Amino acid sequence: MNTITADDKDPMGRAIADYHKTGKAGKLRVLSSMFYEDEIPVATLFRTFGQMPPQEQAAIELCRGRILDVGAGAGCHSLELQKRGCEVVSIDISELSVQVMKERGLDARTVNFFDETFTEKFDTILLAMNGIGIVGKVEKLPLFFRSVKRLLNKGGQVLLDSTDIRYIFMNDDGSMDINLAAGYYGEVDFKMRYRNTCGEPFDWLYIDFDTLSMYAGENGFSCTKCADGEHYDYLAKLTIKE
Ligand code: SAH
Repeated sequence: MNTITADDKDPMGRAIADYHKTGKAGKLRVLSSMFYEDEIPVATLFRTFGQMPPQEQAAIELCRGRILDVGAGAGCHSLELQKRGCEVVSIDISELSVQVMKERGLDARTVNFFDETFTEKFDTILLAMNGIGIVGKVEKLPLFFRSVKRLLNKGGQVLLDSTDIRYIFMNDDGSMDINLAAGYYGEVDFKMRYRNTCGEPFDWLYIDFDTLSMYAGENGFSCTKCADGEHYDYLAKLTIKE
């Protein structure tokens, strides 16, 4: 889980680099065996504070101390935090994205969040735009909590947003088409494509607040909801139980 994305397998990084250089980009396609093909408008990866959804704005307001922006992408949250005078380190496994963030004036590093040799300490760990998705599967949540414990200062916090995707499986009468034997319903497989660059398939986790709280408790964390989003999404805060 400590891998870095190769440039020729990095559609999102290529899209971010193009947009940064030219102010426009082609289609960033998202494919999954579970959903219809979708698209991430590349401009949204460069969103300003005013363009962020309310739960992301709330997350920015709650950030304090030395901040780690995990899976920072084009660095939109890091830039806003830096503008507010915060000290922020931005990490991503996409070298292309990290290069763009450096050119935008950020302290950006090509680091995988799960890499145990990354041992700096932070007061806030921010995982924006369903950043906890990088965990991939619920069974890997203990590894996530271990990494958080490694990186968090005493009294520190994790801020993350996610979505309860149960609405996708819900029938009109409220019943759900979910195969309970198939694992947790928020475990999704994705693949991205940009122009002629195809990424490797990857696992991505959407997690509802109750399931997150349960795993947090089992791993020695308190979990509180800070805000509800507009569509089954929410902002949560994790802190280590004293
Ligand atoms: N936070 C940004 C970008 C979200 S896209 C925003 O809100 O706009 C998710 C990002 O996470 C991608 O740039 C991807 O390269 C990065 N990523 C995926 N797995 C990672 C990991 N294990 N460690 C660090 N970054 C990771």
